[in-house]
Amino acid sequence: MRDIAGAVESGLTILCSAPAGMGKTVASLYPTLQHAVRTGGRVFFATAKNSQQQLALDTLRAMLDPADGIVAVQIPAKERSCPMDGRRCSQPRCRMQERTPERLQKNGLLEELAVSGVVDGATIVARALAARVCPFETALALAESASAIVSDLNYVFEPNAYLRRFFDVPYDRDLLIVDEAHNLPARASAHYSPELNLETLRAIADECLFGGEPAVQPAGLVLAELLDACDQTWARLGEERGDAPPWVEAPDLGLYERLAEPVADAIGAYQSFRSAGGRSPLQRAGLRPDTDARGRDPLLVALYALRDLGRFCAREPERFACLWSPGRLRVLCLDPAPFLRERVRGFRAAVFMSATLSPVEFYARRLGVDGPDTVSLDLPSPFPKTQRLLAAVTSVDTTYAKRSEDAEHIARIIADVIALRPGNYLAFFPSYAYRDEVIAKLPSGDHRVLLQLPGLPAETTLGLLRNNPGDTRLLAGVHGGIFAEGVDYPGDMAIGVFVIGPGLPQVSPEQELIRSYYDRELGAGFEYAYVYPGLNRVVQAGGRPLRTETDRAFTLLLGRRFAQKLYRDKLPLYWQDELVELADPVAAVRAFWES
Ligand code: SF4
Repeated sequence: MRDIAGAVESGLTILCSAPAGMGKTVASLYPTLQHAVRTGGRVFFATAKNSQQQLALDTLRAMLDPADGIVAVQIPAKERSCPMDGRRCSQPRCRMQERTPERLQKNGLLEELAVSGVVDGATIVARALAARVCPFETALALAESASAIVSDLNYVFEPNAYLRRFFDVPYDRDLLIVDEAHNLPARASAHYSPELNLETLRAIADECLFGGEPAVQPAGLVLAELLDACDQTWARLGEERGDAPPWVEAPDLGLYERLAEPVADAIGAYQSFRSAGGRSPLQRAGLRPDTDARGRDPLLVALYALRDLGRFCAREPERFACLWSPGRLRVLCLDPAPFLRERVRGFRAAVFMSATLSPVEFYARRLGVDGPDTVSLDLPSPFPKTQRLLAAVTSVDTTYAKRSEDAEHIARIIADVIALRPGNYLAFFPSYAYRDEVIAKLPSGDHRVLLQLPGLPAETTLGLLRNNPGDTRLLAGVHGGIFAEGVDYPGDMAIGVFVIGPGLPQVSPEQELIRSYYDRELGAGFEYAYVYPGLNRVVQAGGRPLRTETDRAFTLLLGRRFAQKLYRDKLPLYWQDELVELADPVAAVRAFWES
C-alpha cells in the first residue's frame, strides 16, 4: 500500500507481483481512491474477468461508508445488459437510447442509485429496466459522478469500445488499476487483430453494389476493392509459396492507405442510412444470421476493421503480420505495446498487479510501460512456509511427444496422493484432450472426479467442492480456464493442486509469428511466445488453494521441465526459493500432512 501510494504521488506506473490472497485489491484501491477523492480524479479498476470485479466491489463496500458520499460504480457489459441484445446500438434507433438522458434528468434514478455508495452492475440493470432507460447509458451517467469505476478491460483499452466520455478528454487526474494484468497483452493483441471472412464480405459487397440501394453502394465499392486486392494476393501467394496455407505476408499498407478515406465516407453514409431506418444488406439479401456472434452488423464490423487497419497497422507496420487461409484473412497484432502505452500514459499513475508479473522486464515490455517511469514490486508469500509444500515432480515427461506415454504415470501419482487424505483437490492440464487422457487412466478409488466442462456454470462445480461432506473430490480442468484463474478456494475448498505443465501455448502459426517477432526484436522469441505465458498459467493455477493465513495445501508441478533452468529460473522468486524436486511426491505429501 505504501509503495502504491508513493507511485501515485510521484505519477509513476507500478508493476506489483504478489501471491494470491495477499490483499492486492485493497492495497491498490485504498491509496488510489484516497488520492482520487483528494484531487477530484477517478480510479478505473479494470479486470479481464467478471469474478475479479466482484472482489473489487466487495472491497469498496468494506472501505466506504455510504454516508461519505463517495460513489463507486460497476459498468455492466453492454451486450449482456441490453434488453435489445445490444445490436440496435449499431443503428442508432433504439428508443431507450433516445429517451435515456432526458428521463434520467427527470426521474431521479441516478441520485437514488448513488445513495448506496457502491453500485453494482446488476442493480443498475434492474433499476434502469424498471425505469425504462438504457442500463448501459445509466451506468455511464452514474460513473460521471463516481470516484471509482469497476469495469472490463475493454472499456479502457478496446479501440472501438473504450469509454469515449472518459478517454476522449484529458484524464490525467485519473488513476488506473489493472487486475490480473498478465492477461492484458493477449487481450490487447486480439483487439488490434481483425479477422475478415472473405466469403461473407463477398455476399455483402454483392448486395451493396447490386441490391438497388444507393446509400450502401460506397460500402460495396470499398469491399469490392478490398476483395479484389485479396484475390490477387491469394493468387500470387499460391504461385509463390511451395507449402500449404496458412501463408504469412506483410500487411498491404498501400491498400489500407488508399481505402482510408473511402472507408470513412462509407461508414458515415451507412450509419446515416441505418439511422433513417434502412435495412442492413444481409437482411435485404435474406441471409441468416444477419448479425455476427456478438449481435453486431457484419458490414459495420468489416468497415471498422478496415478503418482500424488504416489507423493502427499503417502506424506500426512492423508489429503486424497477415495470415492468409482459404477464404480468411487475419491481420495479427504481434506486439500491442505502443497502443497500451498510449492509453496508460494519459493517466496520472497506473498500477498493474497479478500473482506473477515476473520476469518484470517481460511484462513491462509487453504492457508498453518499459520506461524510466515504471517501478516494480515483487512480494513473497506472507503465509508461514509450514502451511505449504511446493514441489516439482521430475519423473514425468509432459512434452508433446511423450505425453501419452506418461499419462498413466501422472494418473497414478494423482491417485496415490489424493488417497492420503480426504478433501478437495484440483488438477490443471494444458488441454482438455490431455486432461481426458489422464483422467481415463485414473485408477479407481475412493474419489469423485468433477470435470470442467465448457459452458457449465462454475458455481455448479464450486458448490460441490464447498459442500463436500468429507470425501475426496478432484476437480480436473485446464490452464487459463475459469477454475485455474479468478476463482478462489479458501479453507477446505482445495487442499492440494496438481499443475501439469509447464502449460506452454500450443504451437500454431500465430504463436510462431510472435516467436519470430520477439526473436527479431529481443532475441528471446521462444521465451516471449511460449515460456513466459506458459509459466504464468502455472503460477496462477498453483496459487489457487492458498488464500488465507490458515489455509494449508500443496502445489505439485508435474513435468520434468520444471526442474530445467530455462523454466525454473523464470518462476517467481518466492517459488524458486521453496521449490523442491522430487521423483515421487507421495512420501513428501504424507510427511507434509503428518507434520
Ligand atoms: S442504447 Fe442501450 S438499450 Fe438501446 S441498444 Fe444500445 S445498449 Fe441496448
